[in-house]
Amino acid sequence: MSTAALIVAAGRGQRLGGSLAKQYLELGGCALLTHSVSAFANHEAVGPVRVVISADDEQTYRAAVSGLELLEPVIGGAERQESVRLGLESLEGLAPDRVLIHDAARPFVSAGVIDRVLAALEQGPGAVAAVALADTLKRQTAASRTIAATVDRAGLWRAQTPQGFAYAEILAAHRAAAQSAGPDFTDDAAVAEAAGLTVELVAGDEDNFKITTTDDMERARRLFDSRLGDVRVGSGFDVHRFGPGDHVMLCGLALPHERGLVGLSDADVALHALTDALLSALAEGDIGSHFPPGEERWQDADSATFVRFAMARLAARGGRLAHVDLTIVCQQPKIAPQREAMRARLAELLELEPGRIAVKGTTSEGLGFTGRGEGIAVQATATVRLPG
Ligand code: MG
Repeated sequence: MSTAALIVAAGRGQRLGGSLAKQYLELGGCALLTHSVSAFANHEAVGPVRVVISADDEQTYRAAVSGLELLEPVIGGAERQESVRLGLESLEGLAPDRVLIHDAARPFVSAGVIDRVLAALEQGPGAVAAVALADTLKRQTAASRTIAATVDRAGLWRAQTPQGFAYAEILAAHRAAAQSAGPDFTDDAAVAEAAGLTVELVAGDEDNFKITTTDDMERARRLFDSRLGDVRVGSGFDVHRFGPGDHVMLCGLALPHERGLVGLSDADVALHALTDALLSALAEGDIGSHFPPGEERWQDADSATFVRFAMARLAARGGRLAHVDLTIVCQQPKIAPQREAMRARLAELLELEPGRIAVKGTTSEGLGFTGRGEGIAVQATATVRLPG
C-alpha cells in the first residue's frame, strides 16, 4: 500500500510571527514547519510528501525544507478546506492508496502517532489522531460568563492531525464538499463524515498540539528544550608553534604580534581546539579527519570554516550548543585585553549568546614550550545537548 503525506501550510495567520506566517517561526534552530515535514519525510512507511503553501511564502518555504526530499509544493487556497482539496488534486497523478493529512503547526507529531493512524487505515477508509477529553465541559450562558450547564464529556474527543484516509475516497469527499453550499469544514474528518465515510479515532498525543498563540509557542520551546536531554561535553586541545609573521589568529581575531603561528589554514589554534571539542561532543572524529592537513585547499583557509562545519554537524543531529570554554596558554600576546572581542567574535560565529562563551588566558609560569615562548596551546570544551 502506498502512502502519501500532505502537509497543510498555506495559512497566513501572522498573529504570532509579525510578517512571518507562524509555521515558519524558529523552533530549535529551524522552522516549525521543518519539524512537521521531517516527521513524515523520515517515516519509513510514508512515501511522497507534498506541502501546500501560500504563494507569498515560496522563498521562505524553500529555505525551510532545503535538504529534505519532497515533492514540489503546491499553492493553497483561501481557506484550509480548499488548500487540502488542491493538495489532494495535485496527488492524482501519483494515485497513492492512502494519504495522511497533517497541519504544519503541529511540529511534535511522533512516529508512534503516525503508526497508529496507518494501522487503523488497514481496517477502514479513515482514521484520525485524537485525545479523549479529560476536563469537565461547561457551557456558558448567552449573556454572561456564568455556567448555564455542564456538558457530558463521555465519548468526546479532541481531533488532531494526522488524519488518514483512503486517497480516492477523501478526494471524492473533498470534491463533493467544494460543491456544497454549507460553511467550510474545519478538519478533513468532517469532510469524510459528510461523505458518509467511517472514520476511526486513534490515540493521539498531548504533545501533538497545534501552535496558535504566543503561549503555545512558549510551550513548544519549553518542550523542545526538555527533549534535548542527551548532554555531552567534548574537549579539544591544539598547539601551534611560532614562526615568521606579524600577527597571530586567535578566536577569529588577528592580534598584532612579533611572530605568527605556523600550521594548517590561518593557524587559529583556538578555533582548531574549539572545532575538535565540538566534533568530540558528537563523537564524529576530529578536525584532521574532516580536513586532511595534506590537502592544499585548506592551506590558507579561514578557520571559521572548520567551526561552521562542526556546527552544521550539530544542527544535522538536531542538537544545540549550550556552552563553550577556551583556555589559551601563552606568555604573549596578553589575552585579557582581547577577551571581550574574542567572546563577541565567537558569539557571532557560533550564533550563541555571549553568556554561554568563556575565554580565558593563562601563562604556564615560564615553564615548558609555552613558557619559553615557542608557541600557543589552547584547551577547549564544548557542551552540547542532543535529542534523546
Ligand atoms: Mg591546529
